[in-house]
This record gives sequence, C-alpha cells and structure tokens, in this order.
Amino acid sequence: DVKTEKLGFEAEVSKLLHMMVHSVYSDREIFLRELISNASDACDKLRYEGLSDDSLLAGDTDFGIAITVDPAAKTIQVSDNGIGMNRDDLVANLGTIARSGTAGFMDKLTGDAKTDVQLIGQFGVGFYSVFMVADSVVVKTRRAGDADAWAWESTGEGEYTISGAEKDTRGTEITLHLKEDAAEFLEQHRLRQIVTTYSDHIAVPITLAIKGGEEADADPKVVNEGSAIWTRAKSDITEEQYTEFYRHAGHAFDDPALTLHYKAEGMQEYTVLLFVPTTRPVDLFDPARKSRVKLYVKRVFITDDTTDMLPGWLRFMRGVIDSQDLPLNISREMLQNNPTLNRMSKAITKRVVSELEKLATKDTEKFLKIWETFGPVLKEGIYEDFERRDLLLKLARFKTTADDDWVTLADYVERMKDKQSTIYYVTGPDEATTRRSPQLEGFKSRGVEVLLLSDPVDEFWLQVVQDFDGKPFKSITRGSSDLKDLDSDKKDASDDTVKEGDLTTLTTVMKEVLGDKVKDVRASDRLTETAACLVADDDAMDMHLERILKAHNQ
Ligand code: ADP
Ligand code: MG
Repeated sequence: DVKTEKLGFEAEVSKLLHMMVHSVYSDREIFLRELISNASDACDKLRYEGLSDDSLLAGDTDFGIAITVDPAAKTIQVSDNGIGMNRDDLVANLGTIARSGTAGFMDKLTGDAKTDVQLIGQFGVGFYSVFMVADSVVVKTRRAGDADAWAWESTGEGEYTISGAEKDTRGTEITLHLKEDAAEFLEQHRLRQIVTTYSDHIAVPITLAIKGGEEADADPKVVNEGSAIWTRAKSDITEEQYTEFYRHAGHAFDDPALTLHYKAEGMQEYTVLLFVPTTRPVDLFDPARKSRVKLYVKRVFITDDTTDMLPGWLRFMRGVIDSQDLPLNISREMLQNNPTLNRMSKAITKRVVSELEKLATKDTEKFLKIWETFGPVLKEGIYEDFERRDLLLKLARFKTTADDDWVTLADYVERMKDKQSTIYYVTGPDEATTRRSPQLEGFKSRGVEVLLLSDPVDEFWLQVVQDFDGKPFKSITRGSSDLKDLDSDKKDASDDTVKEGDLTTLTTVMKEVLGDKVKDVRASDRLTETAACLVADDDAMDMHLERILKAHNQ
C-alpha cells in the first residue's frame, strides 16, 4: 500500500540532528563523502550476496554511484545500484544510532556548540550529516530481490515519514533539497574537487551529471580514479589518499599512525593495506570488539567480521586484505579455520611485527607513540601467542626506576649489576603507584633497576614467561630478597645493614601481636627509609595480582 507512516527519531538522533540543522560548521562538504561511502558499502554488500545468489544481481553487475545536480530545482542526488533497503532497514538504519562511530561521537559532545561542531568534521557522523546542507531529504530505495520500493523523508526535525514508492531498479537514490546558503554544492568544479579530495579511492566509478543551467553537462562523467586503492602502486598514492581510505574502510576519524602496504607473491598471493590508528578505538577493551580488517577476494568484498584474520592482540589494526587464492564463493562460515587464511594470517602477523620493529629503530618517537597507545594490547600477545612470544618480548618497552624513558628488556639486561642474575619488577594499578612502592627503597639505594609494570595484562604474561635472555623475572614484593648478594661494591655490606639477630626480639613480639594475620615477620634489606612493608611468599600470588583477582571476585 502507499499509506504514509510518521515515525519519531530516537532521542539521541534528534539531539544529533538538532546540531546538524543548526550547525555553522565550515567543512559541510563532508556530507558527500558520507553519502558516497555508504553507496560504496552498499555495492560491496550486494556484490558479496550476489556470489551465493545471483538472482539478486538480475544481470546488472556494473556497480556505480551517480551524482546528479539540478541547479534550477536546487537539488543534488546521489544514487547507487547496491543492496538497497527495505522498510525495516530504513527504520533501523536511518532512525536510530546503530553505528559505533556515532555513539563515540555522542559520548564526546560537550554541550558547547563550538567544540561540538568541530567534532562533526572528525567523526563525519554518517548519513545524518546531510542535514548540514539540506532543508529536506528524500531517500528512495529498493532492496535487491524485492518488488517493493520505499521512500523515507525528513526535514531533520524530530520526525520522518516512510511510504511506499515507485522505483524501477534496485538500490538507493538520495535527494537533497539544498539550503539557501549551500548553493556551492550545485557547482560542477566544487563537486569534482570534493570527490577527488575524499572519495578518489572508492573502487566503483562515481559519475557526475549537471541537468540544465549554465554548466549543463547531462552526460555522466566519471570523476574518481575508480580502482581499488590497494591495487595501485605505492608511488601513485598520496598520504591524503591513504588517510581518506583508512577513514572509509576502518570507519575511523583520526589519521593513521602507520601505513603498511605491500603485495605478497609466490606460495600465496595477496595484497595488504593495513593501518595502525593514532587513537585508541573506544571499544578496544570491549570483549565483543570485532576486527576492523576487511577481507576481499580478487577485489570482491567478502566480510569485515574476521576474527580469524589477525590475532586478537592486533585488533586495533584496520584496513584491507585482498586474497588471490581463496575461492570467490567462500562463505563467511568457511573462513573459520581455513588453512589458506591461517597461513596468510601468520605471514601478515609476522610482517606487522617486523614493521613495528623496523619503525622502533628508524623512527623511535613514532614507535613509542604507538607503543603508548597499543602496548597494553600488544602485550596480550606475549601471554596468548606462544609462537610470537619472543618477538613481542623484544619489541616491548617498559618504564623502569632508572628514569622516565621507555626501555627494552635488552637495555635492562645490559645495565644489570655485576652479580645481578634476575630481572626485578614491581606491579601496580598505575605507574605513579609503582614508583612509590616502599619495596623499591633497597633496590634504589643499590642502584638496581626495577621494571614498573602497571597494565593488567602484565600480571598474566608474567605467569607464563620464565625468563628473558636466561634471566628470570622476579617480583620485588614477593619472597625473600637477595639484595645483599649485589652489595659487593659496598665496602662491607653488613656494616650498614642491621643484622637479623639484632631484630629477633622485635620480630618475635610482632609475630605474637599480629598472630594469624601474617605468616612471618622478617628483617629485610629491601627498605632504607620505610620501617616495614608487606611481601608475599615466594610461591604465593603476587600482591597486585591478588588485588586484581579479588576485585573480580575470583
Ligand atoms: P555507517 O555507514 O557508519 O553504518 P551511516 O549513518 O553512514 O553509518 O549509515 C547508516 C546505515 O544506513 C548504513 O550502515 C547502511 O546500513 C544504511 N545505508 C545508508 N546509506 C545506504 C545506501 N546508499 N544503501 C544501502 N544502505 C544504506
Ligand atoms: Mg556511512
């Protein structure tokens, strides 16, 4: 039927739209980037679904995105022949906030109009950004394989309508009735410039046609490069183009901190274009977080739900892997434990680690920024990934008592005292707390360096790693300390250390008073200023780990 339904936006969307409608943001042009990005995703989705059901394609496999401008009517239209939407898709996708990026955006809103408007540029906020330039928007769409088409209409103020519509072909056609002050988006050169800036990397052709007016050019002209960016030579790709692709493919809003683009040939053939982000994704530690790496087979998008593609400790990476060897009709289910994919994953993981290693020597500052942001995740690999453990231990950087710099374990070992055979560490909830540990006093006074570990994951890898370079790790809050053995460079260690015997009376009394609360009271050479500290037994759990587990009711 053709009945019109009136529906309300989700409250969060209304808030967002209110901002869009009233925004004075100067980079409003990003609305086009967002529309093209969605149209390209829609083509990718249908191309994939068409692999298993080619009736959906109905013989039309020439995917494309068309921009049509009507200067007299002051409209701009972006249409695609991708997957399209049915009625329920429309309600779910264009009435609520489903995408994680927008949720992240909403979290960052401050209430201050100026700051908030700046955020639009960074986040894009997807489809809703059309209301920065349009008074009213009509989305006409027909899902591939469906007979019915639908129209979604809104002025961006609290409500939208959905009604049955006429549309001969599948796909989506979005018409923007531009605001008075948005006439620049009717100009051919302006539109070309926007497409080149933001959407040149899009792998389907984007055409532009102008209907009527002075610039009339009714013949659609292709305005983008139109080939998948990862298939092009590195030398033909600018940094800006990499950045725009990263944002599109990874649904990201920052700049890449590291770009890795190469082609593997030989036993296996595939192309890799991966990025390390600059900022932590909001859901980095959310157990439900999925990888954001897209898998393509011979240029055809297969899935971005690829838990098997890269190990969990590389889950912050984004980008594309395009395989020549996997069969095109591979289903997402078949990808699980697929030997070809596993081999590829292993090789790519190795390459990522070696690129990080290279960066560490070539551009230490850049590497340390990445380590500061993603070190806690990479260290999960030391715990989980037996094969990569040694590589990651070498890559890892640590804060120590020596100074404020990051050091490698190799640095630490090189600086060890003559008679020192152990790598000492202290754990705590944050760096500042570890620096204040009273147990450090004896080590500091003897110039013995101690690793300061404050990521929860540290407690876990320390359970499985025996040693580095033959030197065992030892917590300074556990067991008896062997500090006296390191005292060779002092004239006579026992001179300025109280002998255990002198304290026997005191420790006996303390043991009596404390009773069951302690296992033992001992004289210690760990302390120089503090009178007493707590230590765990050699074979007992480290104190900080005990606290973490208690906090989780374990
Ligand atoms: P995102 O692209 O990050 O998911 P958007 O706000 O840009 O967020 O779009 C919301 C959703 O609307 C998309 O995920 C998609 O499901 C749907 N959508 C938008 N544009 C199109 C289109 N041209 N064809 C099909 N679906 C679309
Ligand atoms: Mg989008």
